[in-house]
Amino acid sequence: MFLEMLFPPKCPYCSKVISYDMTECLACRAAYPLDPMIEVTPKGDICIAPFTYEEKIAEAIKNYKFKGVVFNAKSFSAAIVSAIRKTYYKDMCFEVVTSVPMTLSRKKNRDFNQSELIAKNAAELLDKPYEELFVRTVDTSYQHYLERDKRIQHNKNYYSVIDEEKIRGKKILLIDDIMTSGATLSACSEVLKDAGAERVLCAVAAIVRK
Ligand SMILES: [Zn+2]
Repeated sequence: MFLEMLFPPKCPYCSKVISYDMTECLACRAAYPLDPMIEVTPKGDICIAPFTYEEKIAEAIKNYKFKGVVFNAKSFSAAIVSAIRKTYYKDMCFEVVTSVPMTLSRKKNRDFNQSELIAKNAAELLDKPYEELFVRTVDTSYQHYLERDKRIQHNKNYYSVIDEEKIRGKKILLIDDIMTSGATLSACSEVLKDAGAERVLCAVAAIVRK
């Protein structure tokens, strides 16, 4: 309670002070886009997002990723779950929720996995288990120099599965913070499908429009 008085949570989108049981202020929630976005990744996976990466949303995500405003994750997770529930994919009956693993260099720096926190909150809201199903095994700081198509082909080899038993025959919800080209989500989805996943649905907090 004392900490709550010292550091009251703030709305991720407008910085207004809110109570701990809220994820954003009522005005910002009312301004959410009505319809979720459904995008297709380069390899044909469906990705659902509540937001476009712009203005207040982009600011809130940057504050979360680069300034450690961890509280914002709650709002992103709730928005993702609400977006999924507004689509046909709500009936997909996922059995497990997972996230895109972080890069090795960031892991070495002991950064926390931002996608994992969003995915864990979402799993809780969906009442499904969160599992770390695969890890990143190759670093790709040279990735920018590769052409897009090559990047897609290369990507799936950057990851390896932890336990195939937990993937085989499962319907999996794969979560990341944002989607840009979709190459990373495509590669991760392919890793899961190669390991026998029955279906993979991707979801992110925001889609970057080019
Ligand atoms: Zn607000």
